[in-house]
Amino acid sequence: MNPLRRSTLRVERARNRQRMPLVGLGTWKSAPGQVKQAVLAALDCGYRHIDCAAVYGNEQEVGDALALRVGPGKALPRDEVFLTSKLWNPKHDPEDVEEACRSSLTHLGLSYLDLYLMHWPMAFRRGKELMPRRDDGSMCSSDTHYRDTWKAMENLVDKGLVKAIGLSNFNARQVDDIITIARHKPVVNQVECHPYLSQADLLSHCRSLAVCVTAYSPLGSGDRPWASPDEPSLLADQELGAIAERYQKSPAQVILRWNIQRGVVCIPKSVTASRIQENLRVFDFSLCPAYMKLIDSFNCNTRFIIPTVEKNGKKVWRDGEHPHFPFHDPY
Ligand code: NAP
Repeated sequence: MNPLRRSTLRVERARNRQRMPLVGLGTWKSAPGQVKQAVLAALDCGYRHIDCAAVYGNEQEVGDALALRVGPGKALPRDEVFLTSKLWNPKHDPEDVEEACRSSLTHLGLSYLDLYLMHWPMAFRRGKELMPRRDDGSMCSSDTHYRDTWKAMENLVDKGLVKAIGLSNFNARQVDDIITIARHKPVVNQVECHPYLSQADLLSHCRSLAVCVTAYSPLGSGDRPWASPDEPSLLADQELGAIAERYQKSPAQVILRWNIQRGVVCIPKSVTASRIQENLRVFDFSLCPAYMKLIDSFNCNTRFIIPTVEKNGKKVWRDGEHPHFPFHDPY
């Protein structure tokens, strides 16, 4: 069997079928001057899936790498590489959606995306500012409902600008809400997911709707800008380390294997060539059911990706008062 097929998950779409590789390269925080080499290293060692977003501010440099390897006359035909981008929060107004998508396409040097995600269900104040803040650090929101944004994203499929559309950071109720009105079904919900946040309920909910789940920050996002030393480090977990030793693999490989064995797509970020390679070497072993269960039991619902601000001397969720903040629901 072709090894690439073994490492892909089918995402259903209305008219035809796509396959999404189970491991992709994440690009958030991959700095200018580093991300081009990272994407080249990934494509050269076998990655066929890159996760991008307008708000990461590096799509142009990702595009420079793609231009060297993908397309007519290059090493890889365009249809062998699965490319995702995301609509950022101040661009939720239906009038702005197509322009935002076209801007990502231009930066990436592409004529279409395989997948375009609504990055968050929360709309921020419309405009060019990526992070429109109030004096207290919270974000200026907009009344645009994610359902209206979704309808505008559906037009991108009709126009052939994107092959499929999906969600990110949506809770189960919000996923249902979209499914109810969707002309083009969401194929993916991309959410934080790792052994400390196993997302078992959201996973089975999405599965029942045939919506794939992609795990972001699958390694615990140790380089997130707000990381503090008193927070747990997933990659340094001793029990995980012991399992890794048992399989002669790294903790990162065990975590990724656990997720892909559950049918969850992973998009680990790295700018280090050796780690980029390591993170793809997860198709030559499998975890036995007992270890799968043991890793399931590490869940403690710890979210690493949830920006906070200080209010009256207390740390509070930055976006907690937004009407569409997704994390008040249990899942
Ligand atoms: P992550 O992939 O969990 O972790 C990245 C960190 O792990 C980096 O510091 C990286 O270091 C290190 N690392 C990578 N491979 C390693 C290995 N084998 N051994 C040890 N350390 C390793 O974090 P993330 O960037 O937050 O999440 C991954 C991707 O998910 C993002 O890049 C982005 O594409 C996506 N994402 C999406 C959302 C969303 O809202 N939809 C939110 C967050 C993330 P080096 O780079 O220095 O090698």
